[in-house]
Amino acid sequence: MAKINENYEKLPGSYLFAEIARRTAAFQDANPDAKIIKLGIGDVTQPLVPAVVQAMHEAVDEQTASASFKGYGPEQGYAFLRDAIVEADFKTRGVQLSADEVFISDGAKSDCGNIGDIFAVDNKVAVCDPVYPVYVDSNAMAGRAGEYDVDAEAWTDIHYMPTTSENGFCPAIPDAPVDIIYLCSPNNPTGTVLTREQLKAWVDHANETDAIIMFDAAYERFITEEAIPHSIYEVEGAKTCAIEFRSFSKTAGFTGMRCGYTVVPHELVRQGQSLNAMWNRRQTTKFNGASYIIQKGAAAIYTPEGARQVEEVIAGYLANAKVIRDGLEACGLEVYGAQNSPYVWCKTPEGMGSWDFFNKLLEEAHVITTPGAGFGPAGEGYIRLTGFGDPDQTKEAVKRIQAIL
Ligand code: PLP
Repeated sequence: MAKINENYEKLPGSYLFAEIARRTAAFQDANPDAKIIKLGIGDVTQPLVPAVVQAMHEAVDEQTASASFKGYGPEQGYAFLRDAIVEADFKTRGVQLSADEVFISDGAKSDCGNIGDIFAVDNKVAVCDPVYPVYVDSNAMAGRAGEYDVDAEAWTDIHYMPTTSENGFCPAIPDAPVDIIYLCSPNNPTGTVLTREQLKAWVDHANETDAIIMFDAAYERFITEEAIPHSIYEVEGAKTCAIEFRSFSKTAGFTGMRCGYTVVPHELVRQGQSLNAMWNRRQTTKFNGASYIIQKGAAAIYTPEGARQVEEVIAGYLANAKVIRDGLEACGLEVYGAQNSPYVWCKTPEGMGSWDFFNKLLEEAHVITTPGAGFGPAGEGYIRLTGFGDPDQTKEAVKRIQAIL
């Protein structure tokens, strides 16, 4: 008899976005004339930039002639993209990598979820709370999370590190040893960033304890403050303790195109094994490479024209986020994020529950947000708003919120 992976039976339902959709639909049914504006959206809305479109058109044309046709590509990605990444994303920031430390994929979600393949089941995992759910659920599927405690809304074997306004959104280094530590900066959902000093403390801790940091930098292009690191490898010592995940999704509107990459430095060695060699083995066995056409499109953001075009789109999302932040602050609310992130993280007024504040904004302002409690227990008392919407709709939504508060 084929036995199933029983860890899947322990997984709680992915309730957050389904519940938001249910409440939104119920409200719209009862109020058909209400013009609802979505500020909860975590997907990009702007089209691909012209440089990317042109590069992909050219790549499609190449596929129409036998002389230029491409079948299976290198599982690790094409050299033209890996080389461009090494030059533009790292060398410019003082980080020396070789192209074979960069693995192109179909996105950061796959890589964050798959990286656990090269680690033992009995590693102790630490995550921030609130958290991007993939880190937790993928470890739960692998049997690394223990049991799900419904009352605590937490897994018994995961070490949760609250990141709230009280600790400046920087997780405290655990007292008891942990083996795998997920950090995300700029952070989803809080929109906050870790400074060089804060990252340095984590890197030193990981090196002292032989832990591995999984550093998710999916939103690095949104960083506007000069001193904030875009890569963990800008911090001395990180190459011996960190794996970094990047994505073209929010950088270049690739949520529907699918492309990302993961950096595994050669210096990363545990129990005498090169993690770069292990990840290479994993990828060449289970992954057949990202699409040539998509990789050509991704490479176009490293041309001067493409870089300028994606920067403009990102500036638009950041401008929306600033409109939200300034507008909410003007109502006396405590607001975080937006400066280096498309996300705005807002404390609910007078200690209101995050679902109650969500309901109030839906029913009175007809604005959809995301309740912070959906990202983990320490997200209670916050809501997340995003700058990915239309600029005029964003301004209108903020006006409506101001009118009811
Ligand atoms: N990491 C974080 C923190 C995210 O918020 C997301 C997407 O929302 C991803 C990774 C996934 O990115 P990708 O679209 O490349 O799979």
